[in-house]
Amino acid sequence: MSKVKKVEAFVLTVPRDEPYLGGQHNDEGANERGYFVRQRNRTVYPIMDRSVVVRLETESGVIGWGETYGLVAPRAVLALINDFMCDFVVGRDAFDAAVIHEDLYNMMRFRGYGGGYYMDALAAIDIALWDAAGRCANLPVAKLLGGRRRDRIPAYVSGLPKPTLTERAEFAAEWQGKGFNSFKFAAPMAEKSLAAEISGLREVLGSEARIAADMHWTCTSAEAVSQIKEMEPHGLWFAEAPVATEDVAGLADVARGVQTPIGVGEEWRTVYDAQARINARAVHIIQPEMGHTGITEFMRMGLAAQAAHLRIIPHATIGSGIFLAASLQASSALECVEAHEFQHSIFCRNTGLITEGIECKNGEYILADKPGIGVEPTEEMISKLER
Ligand code: MG
Repeated sequence: MSKVKKVEAFVLTVPRDEPYLGGQHNDEGANERGYFVRQRNRTVYPIMDRSVVVRLETESGVIGWGETYGLVAPRAVLALINDFMCDFVVGRDAFDAAVIHEDLYNMMRFRGYGGGYYMDALAAIDIALWDAAGRCANLPVAKLLGGRRRDRIPAYVSGLPKPTLTERAEFAAEWQGKGFNSFKFAAPMAEKSLAAEISGLREVLGSEARIAADMHWTCTSAEAVSQIKEMEPHGLWFAEAPVATEDVAGLADVARGVQTPIGVGEEWRTVYDAQARINARAVHIIQPEMGHTGITEFMRMGLAAQAAHLRIIPHATIGSGIFLAASLQASSALECVEAHEFQHSIFCRNTGLITEGIECKNGEYILADKPGIGVEPTEEMISKLER
């Protein structure tokens, strides 16, 4: 038994020289609040890195940490946690993390809050509960999830944030020189066709490299089939998010229409999002994002994928490393994890924000044998947390 005494949420902001995915194009100037829209995937981004961090304290004085998305209007998540959700977590046992998750989900499910900011807030609380439980038990979270299958997880280099294909290929080759041989490029950054992009990368990286394409939900199913088929002769590892997230039938058409495995899932919040695509046989690789799912839903999705004989390649988004550490814990407990995304532009810069516990080198993540999620914020990060 480890009763929760206090739950608080904070905004963490980390400036960056260049926006995520690389520089803006000419028509993509940021507004005065620092937001801009990438025209090629129609998505808004801030010019800084930002997340929401949850600090949870038990009556015995153990601290658990959680984190979720904070890219856009992070104070919406803060309000949900600090004004409402915290009161329904205080007094509960951290070892009941999945039960608390179900209760908080039930409180809002029939009002239509089974996604978006509410589930992000729940994800951060959920990670903090699991972390606290692990620290109370003096065990890594994976041991509470059924067991730790591995302490090394293959990593792929994600995003090649350079303005030209030549520079992107050179950049990937630099990582290849550091022992990484799996890569993913972002379609919105390609100046020419996706086939030209993968062909240029293949030429430099060689036949053994694994190269995936993130298509950023931009195609109709017919366009996606055509573009993927054009990439296939160049050796495509997987195609990510080819069609709009709402288009499950279109995704199934793509999955049937090409040879390449289809990956989706970074925007999912619950196992129901996964189940709809799995039932439609529209996905081969699920890509849960811990910042949206928390540990409880991540595991539910992972186990649903395993039961359907699919593979898991978790997504890794913009954060301090807290939800990445949680993602690696859950990934180390699942059998069908093929690789895990590695966001070099975030991970390498933010290492001063979290204590030692995860490393990414020679093409793989290495998890230390530490309790909870294995890392916690440094004094530097704590000094940046704002209410
Ligand atoms: Mg993606």
